Amino acid sequence: MPLTVAVECLSGCSGCEAAMLDMGTAFMDLLSEVDFVHLPLLMDHKYAETGEGKRAAVPEADLGIVSGGIRTREHLELAILMRKRCRTIVAMGTCAGHGGVPALANQYSSGEVVRAVCGEEWPAPCGESALLDRTYSLDEKIEVDFHLPGCPPHPDYIEMTFRAILEGGMPALPVKSVCDSCPVYREGKGLTKSIGRSTRSARYELGTPLGRMRCLLEQGFLCMGPVTRGGCGGASGETAPKCIAAGVPCGGCHGPIRHNGNPLVDMLNALMSNGVDVRGFPDRQGTLLRFTGAHGRLRKKAQGPGAPGRRT
Ligand code: SF4
Ligand code: SF4
Ligand code: SF4
Repeated sequence: MPLTVAVECLSGCSGCEAAMLDMGTAFMDLLSEVDFVHLPLLMDHKYAETGEGKRAAVPEADLGIVSGGIRTREHLELAILMRKRCRTIVAMGTCAGHGGVPALANQYSSGEVVRAVCGEEWPAPCGESALLDRTYSLDEKIEVDFHLPGCPPHPDYIEMTFRAILEGGMPALPVKSVCDSCPVYREGKGLTKSIGRSTRSARYELGTPLGRMRCLLEQGFLCMGPVTRGGCGGASGETAPKCIAAGVPCGGCHGPIRHNGNPLVDMLNALMSNGVDVRGFPDRQGTLLRFTGAHGRLRKKAQGPGAPGRRT
C-alpha cells in the first residue's frame, strides 16, 4: 500500500511545495510509493471531497504536510482539519515552524495591517474579522510530529523526510549552524564594534574561491549564521550556505538551530560578548526575528510614523 499524503499551504508562499518538485527525479521515484491525495498547488479539487464544496474537506492520509503559519480563521480550520485527518503531521518550512516572514506583521495589530493593505476608506473586503490577532506557528495551534526547517527546505531534506517516514521512522536532521558549513576565513579579531544592515558589498573578488572571503560578520555585516540552523546548501555538507556563496550575509531563514531557540537573544548575546554596541541597532526585533516572529516573540510596536496604516 502506498503512503497517502495530504499537503496544505496556509500563510506562506507555496515555495515549500515548489521545493518538493525541486527534488526532480527523486520526486518522480517517490510516486511509486507515495499517493498524494490532496495537494492544492498541483491538484484542483476545491476542498470539495464531500458536501457542497463550501466547507473545507481533506481526505484521510497517513502523512499530512503543512507549510505556512496560521493567520486567518480559515487557516486555523484547515490546520485542525489536517490534524484530524492525518496520522502524522510535518510542519514544512520556516513559516509553519516559526511564522516566517508573514509573522513580521505581528508587530502591528490586525486593524493596522488591514488598513495598511486596504486603506482607511475600504476596509470591508479584507475582512479584519477573518484574521486572528497575529500569525501563529503550526505548533502553537495543533500538535506537530516533525519540523522540517528551511525557507524553503532543501530538496535533499524533503526527500530524507519522505524516505524516513516510508521506513516507519523520522529523519535525523543535522543540528548545526550555518557557520559550521561556511567556507570563509576568520581572523578571530577586530570584529567591527558597530554591526548593522548595510547596502555596501562584501569585500570579495567574484570568481575566486569563497575561502578567500573574510567572514562577513568580521567585515561588519549582520550575518545570522552563528544562530541559524544550517542545511540550506544541501545534505552533502559540501555546498556553501546559499547566501554566503553569493557574498551576502545569512538572514536567518532556516530559523534557530534548535526549534525553541530565540535568534534575537542568541544573536544579541553573541554580538555583545564580542564588544559590539547593539544599542543603536535599527529595527532590532524585525531584523533579528525576521523569520521567527511566531511563538509570541515579535511584540507590537508603539504606533509611530512608520507603522502600517499611518499615512506619513
Ligand atoms: S517557509 Fe519560505 S518557501 Fe516556505 S512557505 Fe514560507 S516563505 Fe514560502
Ligand atoms: S558569520 Fe556568516 S560569514 Fe561568518 S562564518 Fe558564519 S555564516 Fe560565514
Ligand atoms: S544562508 Fe541563511 S538566509 Fe541564506 S539560505 Fe542559508 S539559512 Fe537562509
